[in-house]
Amino acid sequence: MSTLALAFDLGGTELRGALVERSGDVVARVSEATLAGAGSEAVIGQIIALAGRLLKEHPQARVIGIGACAPGPLDPKAGIVIGPPTLAGWHNVPMIDILSRQFGLPVRLENDANAAALGEWRFGAGRGAASMVFVTVSTGIGGGVIADGHIYHGRRGLAAEIGHMTITGEGDRCFCGAVGCFEAVASGTALGRRATRLTSPGDGSLLRRLSKDGDVSARHVVEAARAGDAGARQLVEAEAKWLGIGFTNLLHLYSPEVIVMGGGLANGFDLLAPGIRATVEERAMQAYRDVPIVPAELGDRAGLVGAASLILWEGEPGTALAMVQNEETKAGGKAGSNQSDRA
Ligand SMILES: [Zn+2]
Repeated sequence: MSTLALAFDLGGTELRGALVERSGDVVARVSEATLAGAGSEAVIGQIIALAGRLLKEHPQARVIGIGACAPGPLDPKAGIVIGPPTLAGWHNVPMIDILSRQFGLPVRLENDANAAALGEWRFGAGRGAASMVFVTVSTGIGGGVIADGHIYHGRRGLAAEIGHMTITGEGDRCFCGAVGCFEAVASGTALGRRATRLTSPGDGSLLRRLSKDGDVSARHVVEAARAGDAGARQLVEAEAKWLGIGFTNLLHLYSPEVIVMGGGLANGFDLLAPGIRATVEERAMQAYRDVPIVPAELGDRAGLVGAASLILWEGEPGTALAMVQNEETKAGGKAGSNQSDRA
C-alpha cells in the first residue's frame, strides 16, 4: 500500500475521517455526528477513536502524518483552534500538540474553507491554476484563496473571510453583527429566508408544497426553479445577481485564473451560472470578465483530501507555474512552456 495520510474534517454537525493517498484518492472513510455541545475533549476523543478504527481496518497502511481541518477562526501555524461558533467549549485548543502527542506523527491543521480550497486546487476543479478562489455557498459563505501557488493566509491565518465582505448597505443583520455581508444576502440560508417571506403556509405555491408548509430552504428553491416555477426562478435570478456581485469583488481583489463554487448551493450551479455570468459581465472591469467560474468537483470530500495534502504535498505547491519554475531550476534556468503535466 502506498504512503497515506490520516485526514479529519471536523464540522459542527459531522466529523469525518479518511485515509488518503497522495493522488487524492480516498482509501477508506468514516464519519459520525460531532458531539458539538460536549466540549473539545469529547470531540478529540472522537477523532482518536475514528483514527483507531481506520488504522485497525487497514493495518498495512503506511501513515506518514495527520492533516486536519476545523471551522475557523483557527491559527494554522500555531495549530490552535481559537473558538469556532459551531463548537461549544472550544477556546484556544492546541489541536496539533494534542494529536501529535497522541499518535507520534506530524500533524498539520488548516481551517475548513482553506482545506476545501486546497482539495479543489490540487485534485478538483482548480487543478493546474496558479491562482484560484474557492467559494463555498451553503448555510454561510466561506472561501479560500490560492495566490501564486500558495494558500493565502494573511495575519494569523485569518485571510479570505469572504462571507463577511460588505456588499450592500441594507438587508438582514449578519450573525457577525454587521449589515450587508455577502453571507447575509447570498448564502443558502438567505435564499431560503427570502423564499419563506415571499410565500406563506397553505398558499398552495410549489415552494410551500415542497417544504410541506414549513420554512422554505435553498434546496426547495432550486428544485422548484428546475420544475419551471416562476417565483422560484425569480428568486434564483436575484440570488445569482448577489453571487455575481460578490464574485466580481473577488475577481478584482485576487485576479484568480478560475473561481470555483462549492457548497450546497452548487447543486443549482447550472441554474445560477447565467445570472452570475451576466452580473460579472456588467460589473467587472474588462480584463477580468473572461475568468471561468465553475462548480466544485469533489463535493464533501474536498476538505478531507485538502487536509491530507497538507501532509502528503508538504513543500510542493503543485501548480502549473511552480512546477515550471522547478523544472527551470533543474534545467539550469531554461525557459519552459507555461503548461505542465500534472500526474
Ligand atoms: Zn457578517
